[in-house]
Amino acid sequence: MEVELLRSEKLKIVGEMSAGFAHEIRNPLTTIRGFIQLAHESKSKINEDYYGLVLEEINRVNKIIHELLNISNPKPLEEKTDVNINCVLEDVIALQESNMRSHYIAWELLLDPSKPTLTADVNKLKQVLVNFVQNAIEAMTDGGSLTIRSSTEEDRLAIAIEDTGIGMSKETIEKLATPFFTTKATGTGLGLTMSYRIVEEMGGTIRVDSVEGEGTTFVLVLPMH
Ligand code: ADP
Ligand code: MG
Repeated sequence: MEVELLRSEKLKIVGEMSAGFAHEIRNPLTTIRGFIQLAHESKSKINEDYYGLVLEEINRVNKIIHELLNISNPKPLEEKTDVNINCVLEDVIALQESNMRSHYIAWELLLDPSKPTLTADVNKLKQVLVNFVQNAIEAMTDGGSLTIRSSTEEDRLAIAIEDTGIGMSKETIEKLATPFFTTKATGTGLGLTMSYRIVEEMGGTIRVDSVEGEGTTFVLVLPMH
């Protein structure tokens, strides 16, 4: 009885997600198809701008598929090692440095002096952190400041990513991590879906605190083994 229920619940989720994927991938494909058809039928020269549009749409499909694979891969090729969290945070900042400079964003790293370590897949962890930092940057279109903190309490590690960006409405907060939920013109709405999933896999939790017009703080709490 219980098993049956779980199975039908799962099937329902699969159905809903498939409908979402189909929709998200069909839209750019329709644009691409339209262009190819136009190019095929038209004897006159095609406006160069269309090529850029088609490339953008292909990139979008690619990005969606890339992120879907990250979400759906149930037994990924994990390589767990002892990871120095402060080093990872420094790497993540280094990766985004030029992006932040070009958006007039100042950053600050406040690192736990005990140099906490986690047993984790460093690439996945970086992926998650880059995601949060990228969202923070995208929320500060007119510049701002990003603060990243690591701290420990008992056997838990907390990583806080704080921005002074646009913040989120209550409605947006409620929809966070729903596949394909995005408020951005070029967003995929899969970044947080993937990040929440990875953090859950690591036995951690995510807290969010956000005020519209003021900024957002995401706090990742991870168990240290
Ligand atoms: P995407 O970035 O492609 O939109 P995400 O899953 O990364 O997808 O984020 C989903 C949505 O959550 C964003 O579109 C945005 O509305 C909201 N969001 C996430 N992080 C922040 C943030 N730091 N500040 C404001 N809004 C955010
Ligand atoms: Mg994102």
